[in-house]
Amino acid sequence: MLKLIWRLFSCTSSLWGDWVKKYLLRGETFWDAKDTGLGSWVWRKLLRLKPLVKGFLRMDIKDGCNVRFWTDIWHPLGRLIEITGEVGTQKLGIARESKICEVMRDGVWRFRSCRDRHIRDVVLSVSGHPLSLSAVSDGVLWKYGEDNYKDVFIASEVWQQLRGRKEEVRWSKLIWFPQGVPRHAFITWMAIRDILATGHRTRQWGHVQWCVYCGEPDETRDHLFFACPYTFTLWLQVVGNLFGSDPDPDREIKLQSMLLVLMTGLLLSYCVWPCKPPFTSYGWSGTTGDTTGRGKL
Ligand SMILES: [Zn+2]
Repeated sequence: MLKLIWRLFSCTSSLWGDWVKKYLLRGETFWDAKDTGLGSWVWRKLLRLKPLVKGFLRMDIKDGCNVRFWTDIWHPLGRLIEITGEVGTQKLGIARESKICEVMRDGVWRFRSCRDRHIRDVVLSVSGHPLSLSAVSDGVLWKYGEDNYKDVFIASEVWQQLRGRKEEVRWSKLIWFPQGVPRHAFITWMAIRDILATGHRTRQWGHVQWCVYCGEPDETRDHLFFACPYTFTLWLQVVGNLFGSDPDPDREIKLQSMLLVLMTGLLLSYCVWPCKPPFTSYGWSGTTGDTTGRGKL
C-alpha cells in the first residue's frame, strides 16, 4: 500500500499512477485529495494512510518545477499550508498552486512583506532552509531514520520502521530458528499464544465445534494438543522416542537431537491442528472437506 503512494510521487512510469492522477487527483496533490466515493477500496485505504505517510515522505527539490510551495512536503516543518492556513497564500502573495521555482527566483525567495508574527516565523524558517535550485528534475525521498532519507522505497526497511516491537519472549528461539519450517512455527506460535480458533473460542462467535479426534464438546487448546487421548498418544509415540527407546537422564543431549525434537514437535503441532470445515484456522472455508491434508497423520 505504501509503495503505491510512493509511486504517485516518484517519477516512475506507472499505468496505475497515471490513471489515478488523471481521474482521481485531477490536478490536486495526494495530500489534498478527499474520499469522494470515486475509486476502489484500495484508493480509499490509501487516503486513510495519509497521516502515517506524512511522517516519512519528503520531496527532494532539484529544479523546483514539480514541487508545490504550499501543499507538498519539502520543508522539515511539513506542509506549509497546514501551518499558516489558507490565509498564508494571501498574506505572502503566493498562489496555492505555485511551484518552488516560481517562488524562488535567482536564488532569492519572493515573499510579500507580512506583519503577521506567526507567518513571519514560517518565512524565517523557510529562508533559513538551505536550498539551491539546479537543472535536475525533482525527486522524492523516504525517511529511514533521523536525518536518513533515501531516494528508493525499500519495503523490508519500511516494515521494520512501522512494525510494533515488544520484548522478546524467552521461548522465541524454540519456535523460530533457521532450520524450522515457517508454517509449522506459525501454528505452534498461535497455539502457545492460545489464539487458534478452537471450539472453545468459536463458541463465542456462535459456532459450535467439538474435538475432531475424540468428540470432546469443549475443545480447548490444552485439550487438543495435550489432553486429547489421540494427540496425547501421538506425542508419546513420535516425540517421546526421539532421545532413544531407553533414554539415559545422565547422558548429555546432543544439539542435533534437540533440534530434531524441536522440528518434530513443531511439525506435530502443525499436524494436530485440524482443518475442520466449515471453520479453518484461516477463516470460514465453506467447504465440506479437508483439502490441505492437515490433520491427516
Ligand atoms: Zn479430543
